[in-house]
Amino acid sequence: MPQKRSASGNPKDQQDRGDETEGISEWKKRAPYKIHDSNEDFPVRYEASCHCGQVKYQLKRETPLASKLCHCTTCQTQHAAPFQWAAIFHKEDINFSHGHHKLEWYDPTEKSIEHKLPCKVRCSYCHSPIMDEGRKMILLFPTLIHFKKDSDKERFKPQCHMFYNERVIDIPDGLPKWTGLNDSSELIEDSPPEMVKELEKKRENEQKKSEKSEKE
Ligand SMILES: [Zn+2]
Ligand SMILES: [Zn+2]
Repeated sequence: MPQKRSASGNPKDQQDRGDETEGISEWKKRAPYKIHDSNEDFPVRYEASCHCGQVKYQLKRETPLASKLCHCTTCQTQHAAPFQWAAIFHKEDINFSHGHHKLEWYDPTEKSIEHKLPCKVRCSYCHSPIMDEGRKMILLFPTLIHFKKDSDKERFKPQCHMFYNERVIDIPDGLPKWTGLNDSSELIEDSPPEMVKELEKKRENEQKKSEKSEKE
């Protein structure tokens, strides 16, 4: 059997690591891995790099779409840390300026190192976690960004805790704390009381609505 799997014509195989395939792999041409030309409109707002510096990237969006702390056990294991800090961006917001061919993938659901979404993305040399690549968004780890101003770092301040039930340590910071995914689980511990009330009201209304539609 020939080893060049890219020749199979199976689109899944074209997402394989670039080193093992011929020519430019499909994934390198698509966001978030697509390299922007210097004449393209990509205003660099932030610069970031992994621990060894072989992977470098730029961001054009000033404020992340959201910033969260995740206490789930997968994040604990994958980051060897009590919890993970992630900022959400569009795939088009990132430009790898160096070493974007030196990336490796891991899909924690299937425990596979193939490029299947959603997956974890790391530097293949120092293994620093770079981001989680979802189907539509990317979750970057702001600890890699070289913040030049405190006001910039402020924009990345976490807004909530997720999977707080799985936590290693209590963090009484008054931020909303979800038992699982935000907005689809329960608010617990020292979550802002007005948010808890609001959520209860919302759930009550939804309950009434579904009861009403059942009767109709
Ligand atoms: Zn590295
Ligand atoms: Zn997590």
